[in-house]
Amino acid sequence: MKEKEEIKCSFCGRKKSEVNIMIGGLTGHICDSCVEQAVKIVEEESSSRVRTSLNADLNLLRPVEIKRHLDQYVIGQNDAKKTMSVAVYNHFKRLTQAVTDDETEIEKSNVILVGETGTGKTLIAKTIARILNVPFCIADATVLTEAGYVGEDVESILSRLLQAANYDVEAAERGIVFIDEIDKIARKSDNASITRDVSGEGVQQALLKLLEGATIGVPPQGGRKHPEQKLVQVNTKNILFICGGAFDGISRQISKRLNTQAVGYSTQERNAELDQTNMLQYISPADLRSFGLIPELIGRFPVLTHLNPLTAETLIRIIQEPKNSLVKQYIKLFEMEGVKLSFEDGVLDFIVEKAIEFKLGARGLRSICEAIMLDAMFDIPSAEEDKPEEFIVTAAYAKEKLNNSGLSRLKVA
Ligand code: ADP
Repeated sequence: MKEKEEIKCSFCGRKKSEVNIMIGGLTGHICDSCVEQAVKIVEEESSSRVRTSLNADLNLLRPVEIKRHLDQYVIGQNDAKKTMSVAVYNHFKRLTQAVTDDETEIEKSNVILVGETGTGKTLIAKTIARILNVPFCIADATVLTEAGYVGEDVESILSRLLQAANYDVEAAERGIVFIDEIDKIARKSDNASITRDVSGEGVQQALLKLLEGATIGVPPQGGRKHPEQKLVQVNTKNILFICGGAFDGISRQISKRLNTQAVGYSTQERNAELDQTNMLQYISPADLRSFGLIPELIGRFPVLTHLNPLTAETLIRIIQEPKNSLVKQYIKLFEMEGVKLSFEDGVLDFIVEKAIEFKLGARGLRSICEAIMLDAMFDIPSAEEDKPEEFIVTAAYAKEKLNNSGLSRLKVA
């Protein structure tokens, strides 16, 4: 009779006397070992849900679709966009790959983007991160130094990623890091024997640690100023690294390599086939090596692609075609004031012409537009009754405003 009254676990049926802890609920009980088992089930279930949701994203975004998204923001640069779409797709395939022993492990597809400044390297990386909805951060390689020297440790890159992920370590571990100006940490071969190369080869060596997929102790606030802060452990195995660099002068290296490869009578023939205005398209890992990147680092970046220099035709498209193009942004700003903004034929050509003349590239388009639009944006919001319904920017207006602005002093004589 007494045995019948003893409390039993509603899951496994064990009696209270047979278990360590029995927890009571409204209508039943659960023992400690059932709790432990339940926790395991929950953990397994939620990690498989993450994988399923990643799989769902993946199903939504094939390389073609990733590129289509990129096309909405990045003009031209087809080779880079295509390569990046495949690299990112494969990266996500890798993330969703169930880990079993017999499977071929897919290697990480870290990318190096080579292209002149202002041609869209950062823009591509940023847009990809937004499409995939993963934490993204930009780090500047020029400030990095070997541990112990003035400058930032390579771990500071991960501090930034953690901040971008709102300190959600799991999210950060699937993020994308863009390291800009990677060419600035090239080995400085000339002085290697005289001084220690703490910002060049030393940093490359230090970066290897991040790229190898190790668990790294990261100061959450970054920097070395808070030595008391507790390190957060971040595993870099699934973090995608994208590096960008202008690699000034690498075109000569590429030409040299192509010329020495093409021996004998075919040299001229080969040169004729080459597009001398854009040698970057022929870049190979060997050129990065001659430039001063160490082979171990190059090996960690299996994907190498280039960006083309921006022509006047591309610039004119950049100013109006992207989803958030400058023209669209100004029209929207004026629309919010109840004013219909338009640009007369020739104004955009004038802006592009000036951007090229000032050697500002795509980055300069915005400064030139701001100089032209400043007065209108200053006056129109406070114009009460005499607020125009329409504002047309004519070529003469654009010229006058730009000439009166500080920017015109950039004019090269
Ligand atoms: P970098 O190659 O130096 O990283 P960015 O990607 O930062 O250059 O480009 C600077 C700015 O120029 C971008 O914010 C963008 O507005 C514009 N831009 C550059 N290239 C392109 C492009 N191909 N398509 C659209 N906008 C571009």
